[in-house]
Amino acid sequence: MVQPHISPAASTGLHFKSVCVAGLKPGPSVIITGAVHGNETCGTQAIHRVLEDIAQKRLSIVSGMVTFVPITNPLAYARHERAGDRNLNRNLYPVAQPADFEDHVANWLCPLLARHEVLLDLHSTRAQNPAFAMLGPENNTGILQPFKHFEKERALAKRLGVHRFVDGWLSTYAKGVERRVSDTVPSGNRANALNTDPRYGVGTTEYMRSAGGYAITLECGAHDDPASPEVGYRAILNTLAFLGITSSPPPQPVEKYEALRMVEVHDKNNVGDAFSRAWASFDRLSKGDLIGTRHDGTRLLAEDEGCILFPDAKAEPGNEWFYLTKTVVEI
Ligand SMILES: [Zn+2]
Repeated sequence: MVQPHISPAASTGLHFKSVCVAGLKPGPSVIITGAVHGNETCGTQAIHRVLEDIAQKRLSIVSGMVTFVPITNPLAYARHERAGDRNLNRNLYPVAQPADFEDHVANWLCPLLARHEVLLDLHSTRAQNPAFAMLGPENNTGILQPFKHFEKERALAKRLGVHRFVDGWLSTYAKGVERRVSDTVPSGNRANALNTDPRYGVGTTEYMRSAGGYAITLECGAHDDPASPEVGYRAILNTLAFLGITSSPPPQPVEKYEALRMVEVHDKNNVGDAFSRAWASFDRLSKGDLIGTRHDGTRLLAEDEGCILFPDAKAEPGNEWFYLTKTVVEI
């Protein structure tokens, strides 16, 4: 019999932990995750604060149930780094033969996610951005990401307490992968194989939707901004109140907000590809603005009004360099 491979990290005393609190009455089931990326600890802090509120009876769970996962990736958290062996928020599926630490996380986390209806996944960003929520697709029966809870997901998003929303991630990512595959000759190594698979774009929220639920990634602000855990804490309380899990009055939807739709991703193709300036997420672009120049001198100009998202000046060739968005009126 072949022994499953256990990465060295899996035997260093790390463990997975969730805390489930159920009310007496029936109701929805929600799971709240922190530290999917180990250096993003605002969710961990927010979850601990809510658990303390429950323990001290400042907050009552009356209906349904809520599961808290304060530290989703314990290896990355212990190292205070984004990833352990790899990014947990990509290629997230249970696997028969775990090859790295994140595969072990996936085998524990994916079935847990699938036992819930709603996921709120709390993250933070390197840059000093205002908080924003990443949302799923419109209802559809397509192959990439079929979905039927658009209305519920958007209704919750508008109650988190943030005023900026981004959607279109997986479809834009898949389009980028298609271009990557047609532009490059696959090398056959694992990194390359993952990089050219649209399923590689599947993280926590995409997995949750594939399991029949709905899900929101909340980027609470910058990693070390003391306001970020507060944003996460408020979002958890609002989620539980809105879903009727606590007896707190339900929050009102935000009326004024900015909604952006990802429409395109550009890979870095060569180490010589360079941005025209130090872009930050949500920097505005006007038609004709110079975004960057390829190593062969090709100028990349904005084709429309919009914003740049997730610019990564240090991206490796063959990986995402930046995303472009357009503004949509309503989410
Ligand atoms: Zn993150």
